[in-house]
Amino acid sequence: MANYLFDRLLSSAVPPDRPFIQPGPGPALDYGGLRRATGRLAHVLQGLGVVPGDRVAVQVDKGADAIVLYLACVRAGAVFLPLNTGYTPAEIDYFVGDARPRLLVVGTGGVAAAQEIAARHGARVETLDAAGGGSLQVAAARAPDDFATVPRGADDLAAILYTSGTTGRSKGAMLSHANLASNAETLVDYWRFTASDVLIHALPIFHTHGLFVATNVVLLAGASMIFLARFDASEVLSLMPRATCLMGVPTFYTRLVDHPGLDGAAVSGMRLFISGSAPLLAETHRDFAARTGHAILERYGMTETNMNTSNPYDGERVPGTVGFPLPGVLLRITDPETGAALPTGEIGMIEVKGPNIFKGYWQMPEKTAAEFRADGFFITGDLGLVDARGYVQILGRGKDLVISGGFNVYPKEVEGEIDALPGVIESAVIGLPHADFGEGVTAVVVRRKGADVTEAGVLEALMGRLAKFKQPKAVIFVDDLPRNTMGKVQKNILRETYKGLYKP
Ligand code: AMP
Repeated sequence: MANYLFDRLLSSAVPPDRPFIQPGPGPALDYGGLRRATGRLAHVLQGLGVVPGDRVAVQVDKGADAIVLYLACVRAGAVFLPLNTGYTPAEIDYFVGDARPRLLVVGTGGVAAAQEIAARHGARVETLDAAGGGSLQVAAARAPDDFATVPRGADDLAAILYTSGTTGRSKGAMLSHANLASNAETLVDYWRFTASDVLIHALPIFHTHGLFVATNVVLLAGASMIFLARFDASEVLSLMPRATCLMGVPTFYTRLVDHPGLDGAAVSGMRLFISGSAPLLAETHRDFAARTGHAILERYGMTETNMNTSNPYDGERVPGTVGFPLPGVLLRITDPETGAALPTGEIGMIEVKGPNIFKGYWQMPEKTAAEFRADGFFITGDLGLVDARGYVQILGRGKDLVISGGFNVYPKEVEGEIDALPGVIESAVIGLPHADFGEGVTAVVVRRKGADVTEAGVLEALMGRLAKFKQPKAVIFVDDLPRNTMGKVQKNILRETYKGLYKP
């Protein structure tokens, strides 16, 4: 038996001298070197007692060695479990206690706290340093290049990714070899990736976007990437002449649009700009197109499902939509209460089914059962609609829905109206506890510097455009909206900050 995911990602058909990581801030690495490095590290993992199915939890800085570790885990039959580098020891303690990994791999700076946590949960600590100095790398340097890849089937687990858990406990999404491989295969096809592509990789690699969408697609296509520790608009612009594609969160694109260097000449060698993980403002889409001639391709996915929909490669990429269900993905809109399918154009719960959908939440069978329908569709928690042309629109997380005076208010609809007002950069609409209405619709707005945008002005502008129950009861101005590392607006923080606004 073969190793389902590893054999596909590191196919022996790719010439060993083909570049995988282009020389850049870090050293270059070709496919032959990558294969040998995974072999050495897989030996080390086995030597440390890692057996198929064991979890390997990893909280390390971004670097090529972290990608080698991911692939070595898959190759050794282990389950890769990446952790956000921003997590505190208390948070890591929860993940380690929940996932019970064999190994906890941290940077050389974080050993003391990791030792305590590992001791509590029966794990062992190893280190991996972006600069190449950790215990795993030291041991790998002495290990042989050849490794008998551990057989794993389509349904075996390749990774567990914890959801960001803005409400309640973070849950471990179990992703199988086939979940990851099938999605990467679909995306390579849909986005036309080939061996000649060079991707600018500036995303974190503890999240599905940078780890699976970006890295697996590059590997499967036998393409290469310029691997950056973080996003910097000037640096990315300066690298574009050597690249063909960029995958980013919307913040990348707003920062590029703000940069005076963004123009047609700067992007002349680029063929594709992809955005996801959070909604791309239609305005950013249009500004970017006006400056560069490129329509950003927006797609939609989540930790549990990999990618579900994408705007087309050839057809029209419609701002404010996430395109069509990907080949092999079934998508339907249902009544959130009853689960009954809704007709075209109606807003409801987005449900998806396909080979990309995860196997369930780690050790949470009840939670898993509650989020799947009997016919296998996963209830995403995102509200949206499918328009007459088949484009999917996302209207926000179900938990962000505002219920005011018994009426449903979809924040995205109100945000769209506010964002279109002159002088407004962006907005977030939330529901706050309100004595009369249950929740009061509240707009948190970022305005352009020096723009004359007032609460009264916003409210007046919305009067003729939205039904009374959708109109905000108050408008709050802020300099920036709170965002997490993936660029998602953290409405939970806004709700907490302003929860007393309507209190008598
Ligand atoms: P995560 O599991 O961290 O990747 O978050 C997944 C969530 O991000 C989805 O359930 C959506 O709410 C949101 N999301 C991802 N891509 C998009 C997009 N293109 N537009 C709007 N929301 C998105």
